[in-house]
Amino acid sequence: MQLLHVKMSEKLQLWPWGVALPLGAVGWWLFRRPGRYFTWQELTTTNTGLANVPSLADRLRLMIMARQVLDPLREVAGPLTVTSAFRSGKVNEAVDGAGGDCHGGPGCSQHTVGYGVDVVPHDMTADQLAGLIRSGGAGDLPLYQVIGYSYTNHLHLGFNPGWNPETQTGDRGRTQYKWKTRSGYEDWSP
Ligand SMILES: [Zn+2]
Repeated sequence: MQLLHVKMSEKLQLWPWGVALPLGAVGWWLFRRPGRYFTWQELTTTNTGLANVPSLADRLRLMIMARQVLDPLREVAGPLTVTSAFRSGKVNEAVDGAGGDCHGGPGCSQHTVGYGVDVVPHDMTADQLAGLIRSGGAGDLPLYQVIGYSYTNHLHLGFNPGWNPETQTGDRGRTQYKWKTRSGYEDWSP
């Protein structure tokens, strides 16, 4: 009876590890990178020298955006250099991002919640990449905005998780295409 008692208590002491270790391994496997082709380092890069650490919720949004937008685009368009994805409020303020030091909400850059990403394609121009997106060549990507920048040759991609911040409606709506020059935004038909 005494022996049985000891064995039972040993089992009881072992079970948290028996659960925690496999769960930890699965969690590590799922979170080791945000997308198939993209690393956490790429999606948190900044040249401001400021801390740029996403919260768990920001990371989950980055993962959704990477898997629904960046990965499918990478498969078709080839390598993409991410010049900016997640931005902390301070980083967003330092790069003159919309809304400055903010975290989501009206007028605040989608970069601050992990739903905005700037990319430079290797194998084509930004203009050609936008044309590829518009033609549906990379599938029906859930994008709210595609903005081409005349002076840096990068594309800003604004993820639309099912909420259109422009119309304040819950549908994905139509992707807006804009062309940004030093003097402002123009409608664009890449
Ligand atoms: Zn951007």
